[in-house]
Amino acid sequence: MATSMATHSGNLFIIAAPSGAGKSSLIKALLEKHSDRSMQVSVSSTTRAPRPGEENGVHYHFLTVPEFEQRIDRGEFYEWARVFDNYYGTSRKVVEQSLAAGIDVFLDIDWQGAQQVREHHPQTRSVFIVPPSLEILEQRLRQRGQDSDEVIAKRMAKAQAEMSHYHEFDYLLVNDDFDDTLTQLEHIVMAQRCRMPLQQVRYGETLKELLG
Ligand code: GDP
Ligand code: ADP
Ligand code: 5GP
Repeated sequence: MATSMATHSGNLFIIAAPSGAGKSSLIKALLEKHSDRSMQVSVSSTTRAPRPGEENGVHYHFLTVPEFEQRIDRGEFYEWARVFDNYYGTSRKVVEQSLAAGIDVFLDIDWQGAQQVREHHPQTRSVFIVPPSLEILEQRLRQRGQDSDEVIAKRMAKAQAEMSHYHEFDYLLVNDDFDDTLTQLEHIVMAQRCRMPLQQVRYGETLKELLG
């Protein structure tokens, strides 16, 4: 249960993928399926311009470069990185408060951020998502209809560099059929929730009773 009386910490998950592989859609679908507030996605801050339809505070916290750099100096980011010439970062306060409240947190971050998070929090489970092919990746970026040809070309050029880090992650998902991938992601989360140290805390009373 996600309450402020939580007796156990939430789980931290990293979801990384080349742009367009489907990570935002998968996280969104998973959260819609589990609308009991037991999990949430961390809203990153970025200096990139909002895309059509993106809302400040919902998709990202959109900041200027000086604002972002000030927050770096104040240590407000759990992790931050430069991706595609922009800054991206995760709020330390939000992640720490949510985990302390027993809520599972998803970070949609790049491989550089993933390396920093694993150092802070070794219990993190990290998932890498790839598309079934480069052709399909490009098709999805075009279908999404939110980036110019120039931006799409830049993201395609970076896709292989991002994917070259796949082996640093605990799980690999090939996002071919969306529903199959969603099920796999859900199972990773559920398995993590059942890990022994967490269950021992969660079911401490029951275990005491069972063992006499
Ligand atoms: P997308 O890749 O099409 O979803 O495009 P975005 O502009 O939303 O994300 C660009 C990249 O920045 C992706 O690799 C994200 O995972 C990464 N990213 C987003 N937020 C963060 C963050 O807070 N920290 C880090 N390190 N990377 C982030
Ligand atoms: P990312 O967050 O990794 O950049 P998105 O979630 O925005 O990727 O997905 C990119 C596009 O591909 C979106 O238009 C999305 O609806 C579509 N998409 C995602 N997964 C699949 C899939 N398995 N099959 C077909 N289209 C998909
Ligand atoms: P986009 O600009 O398409 O939303 O995101 C581009 C890339 O930035 C994606 O690969 C995304 O995972 C990464 N990204 C988004 N938010 C963060 C973040 O908070 N931290 C890091 N390190 N990367 C992020």
